[in-house]
Amino acid sequence: VVKFGKGLEKTRENWSKQFQRLFTTDEMEQFPWKELEAMLYSVDLGTKTTKSVLQELRKIVEERKYKQVEDVKAALKEVLYGLIVSETTTDASSKIATEPPTVVFLVGSNGMGKTTSTGKLGYKYSLQGKKVLLVACDTYRAAAVEQLEIWASRSQVDIYTPKPKQYKPTAILFDALEKAVNEKYDLVLVDTCGRMHNNETLMKELSSMCRIVEKKLGRGPDEVLLVLDGVLGRNASTQVKAWKNLIPVTGLVVTKLDGTGKAGYLVSIIHEDKLPVKWIGVGEGLEDLRSFDPQLFIQLLFD
Ligand code: GDP
Repeated sequence: VVKFGKGLEKTRENWSKQFQRLFTTDEMEQFPWKELEAMLYSVDLGTKTTKSVLQELRKIVEERKYKQVEDVKAALKEVLYGLIVSETTTDASSKIATEPPTVVFLVGSNGMGKTTSTGKLGYKYSLQGKKVLLVACDTYRAAAVEQLEIWASRSQVDIYTPKPKQYKPTAILFDALEKAVNEKYDLVLVDTCGRMHNNETLMKELSSMCRIVEKKLGRGPDEVLLVLDGVLGRNASTQVKAWKNLIPVTGLVVTKLDGTGKAGYLVSIIHEDKLPVKWIGVGEGLEDLRSFDPQLFIQLLFD
């Protein structure tokens, strides 16, 4: 838990402070349900998830005839875990294609931490002994290509950068896949554009990129990870909905969780948007990307 919790200290402190206020009595009759509701809002679980949690919790307390407040705490843990377990697995790593290379797109709006996460993910997989190729397709954001080059050298993985005057993400991707197939890479991590002139051009570009993968490998990208800034909290849900309309997202990377005490809202994002959180970013260093373990995460909130 300690290792998993590194970088999530603010969230841990926030939850434990809130809980101390709730569990001041042992008597079940005096259990402060209203305060629990307010607490769930204040840690950013949102209306819908808060309602689900309270409903489920009251049901358990009645059915099991709990007399001890301590039991409610355990039941709350169980309820929160239940909301996310079906959408997440303890093995967050990407589906590895039976026929390499496995292709992973990282998508998301500018500033969310997409390039950084691409670099960190490359490092993770290279530690597992995988031959990794980063692909710099974000030609619309100034310096994104240079930034990914820095990450590639930090992570000691290979990178495909655009040739001079090569600006079209689809052309870059096509050449990168050619290299990946010829040189037998295991994994291709593609940093995509976060913004174009408008959403329509962005959507067209992303679907053309999916088609390039299909043309080269006979299947689309194996994984499309949407990168979200964790500091957005519940507001990230708007981003999730918008991006789901642009491309079929298969999972989430939530970054900058070291900067918020409200990481608990991940429960509601997973529960309501029905997408697994695969990775979490908890700092700016190479090692600061963790695979999201639902069990450890819930445990951390109660420690
Ligand atoms: P992009 O535009 O989506 O590619 O965003 P970048 O990868 O350039 O990241 C934007 C900023 O967020 C950079 O300054 C990163 O160092 C920072 N960042 C990314 N992930 C994390 C994280 O997990 N924690 C912290 N504290 N900063 C992060």
